[in-house]
Parts: sequence; structure tokens; C-alpha cells
Amino acid sequence: MPTAFPFIQWILVISIALWPLHSAEAAREIKPSSLVLPAQSEPLRWVRVALAQDVPQVIIDIQAAYRIHSSDGRELFRGNRMVGTRIEATADGIRIGPQVFFQSPITIHTDEGGIKLGGRLYRDSITLLHGKSGRLSVVNALLLEDYLKGVLPIEVNPNWPFETLKAQAIASRTYAIFKSLENRDAPFSMTRDVLSQVYAGKSAENSITSRAVDETAGQILTYGGKIFPTYFHSTCGGKTTAAETNWDIAAHPSLRGVDCPFCQGTKHYRWEGEFSVAEIQEALKKNGFALSRLEDVTPVDLDASGRAQNFLIRFDGKSKKLRANDLRLWLDPFRLRSTFFRHFGRSGNTFQMTGRGWGHGAGMCQWGSEKLGELGYSHSQILDYYYPDAQVRNLV
Ligand SMILES: [Zn+2]
Repeated sequence: MPTAFPFIQWILVISIALWPLHSAEAAREIKPSSLVLPAQSEPLRWVRVALAQDVPQVIIDIQAAYRIHSSDGRELFRGNRMVGTRIEATADGIRIGPQVFFQSPITIHTDEGGIKLGGRLYRDSITLLHGKSGRLSVVNALLLEDYLKGVLPIEVNPNWPFETLKAQAIASRTYAIFKSLENRDAPFSMTRDVLSQVYAGKSAENSITSRAVDETAGQILTYGGKIFPTYFHSTCGGKTTAAETNWDIAAHPSLRGVDCPFCQGTKHYRWEGEFSVAEIQEALKKNGFALSRLEDVTPVDLDASGRAQNFLIRFDGKSKKLRANDLRLWLDPFRLRSTFFRHFGRSGNTFQMTGRGWGHGAGMCQWGSEKLGELGYSHSQILDYYYPDAQVRNLV
């Protein structure tokens, strides 16, 4: 994943499940694309973002007073600082430095300075819990508005038009709240990478993008009074697509796809790529699709935008359809940049392709939104363009 803004790639994914659940031929559970906002919005002002999942250990630093408490809020320990402290899961709890706490989850909270993990500083608190196979997972719980300040500088260029930055703040806020509602019973609602939206903590904050967050504080997008997942991506390549092309999600009027002439000529508008037969075979195998000989791959079932919805995979004398966006993510979304192909062909043991745009293509085209900002569109006009018929409202 590229790490330097503004040319990072943003791909929003609901989940990457194993074959055959996402096989175009398997039965699918369609998730709702709109959710009712609860009357009490206070819990929505917080987000839980996974910083590490199922790892052997993490090292953290805290340069100020901190507290450790249990999941029911009981204080377990107080300290003044931690330096290079190793944290790991034990069979019956969590070890922090020399001390074992015989429970999971536990939370470390600090009021000032933040918590440093993996070279980045995070605000408020981290929750430590048992992940898979007795390993450790780490979740940053913090205020939604603070979270957005660690997202925007990575997702957009702070030098872009200010109205574009405000549109992104509202889209990112809405997406985060939708995920919080969707995953309210899970230990976390988002990851910190391109599978949700890229979050780099307090270290990444920038005064301009923070102002875009502050000036839109509490504003979200709704349709018919309900919240929906405001997907966005780097570059659509001329048309955005309907969300259900990429994910098992119900069709939504504000996610139906629009024409976008605005990203034309920007740096990710066209791309070229190639993959060896062996690479594709390996990616399929890794994702639970056992085969001994891959014979062919063909993009099929073009949607209204012109994107392939599926790949027809021929192997071992058989054939199956696989959702195109799934294979894109399994292979490498930085090389197979979109499923919007202009050419897809095979030459010997190599598949070669040219395409348009970067990302899944649903929701807002970020490079298009940059152009609209330059043209003088307001943030609400930009949002209305990419999420037709949606309304900006305040979280009350
Ligand atoms: Zn576009």
C-alpha cells in the first residue's frame, strides 16, 4: 500500500470472505444498504479501529500518566509512563511488561500525549484483547471527530480545494458511523487500512484537513432519514458504479452510479497491468479455491458503467464465476487497479490488461471531487453529485 498522500489508493471493502462464499454462483447474504440512526446518538460519537489483529505482540510507548481498566470500567492499574513496553496475550489474560492481567479485554487510557504503537501516535485509549489462536488484537477507541482528523490527510491532499476536503470529511464521517452501526456487537468496527478507510492516527493530523473536519462537525449524509455506506475511491475513470457490483449489498438510490467526466486526464485515469498465470493461480489457491491447472480468466457480465462484475475462471476442465472485485483484491489492488477494462488478453503465460480508474468505483470519485472543488462547487453540491438524492444533516 502506498503511504504518501495524495496518490494513495482507497478501496473500501465490506469484507473479504473466503471462496466459495463470494463465488458468483454461491448463495449470498445481501446486507442492508441503509440503517436507522438510533435516537440516542452519543455512542455514535466514538469509533473503534483495529490497529493490529492476531499478532504475537506489540510494543507501546506512553509519555504521560495512564490508567488500565477492565471492560466494565474498573481501574486495575495506574502508571506514569511506559517505554518500549511489550504487550502479548497469555493463555488467561494480557501481559503488559512484567505484569499479567488475568482478563481480556483490558484498556489503557491516557489523557495527554497519546499512545505510540508501530511508530504512530494514537489518541485516547487502546483496548487489548485475545484474537485468533490466542494471539493479540489491539483496538483504538477514540472520538469520531478525532479519528477523522487522522483519516483525511491520508485520504485526500490537504492542498486540494477546501470544499472538496469538507465533502470528504462528511463522506468519511458517514461511512465510519455506518460501520459502527453495522458492527456494533463486534470488538471493532473498522480496520485502519484500505479495507475500511486509511487511518494514521494523531501523527498524521494536518491543520487544514482538521479544519475541514471541525467545520463540518457532526454532519452526515442520509437518504430517506437513514444512513448509508458512503463509499469513495481514488478515480472512477469516467463513470462510477453501483455498489452492488462490488459487494453483497442491497441496491441503494444514492449509490447507483453516475457519469463523471471530471477525473479525465488525472494521473490514475488510465492504467496498464500484467499478471502471470502462476500469480493468478496462487492468489486463487490462497483464498481457498483449490485447483491444479488454471486454463483461462475472462472478465464477464459488464455492468451499466462498463465494469466487469465477474471473472469467468476456467480450470481443470471446469469453469466458475468469481466476483471481479474479489479477485482484484486477492491479486493486488495496486496492480489490478480497477475492473474497468479497455483490454484484457492473454499472451503465453501472461495476462495483460489496460483499464481505467483506480479503486472499486462506487460512491465518490476523489479526483473528480477535486476537480469539482476547483470548478467552484460547494461541498454539498459535490456530495449531491456523487451520492444523488442524499441529504446532509446534523447528527443530533
Ligand atoms: Zn471520476
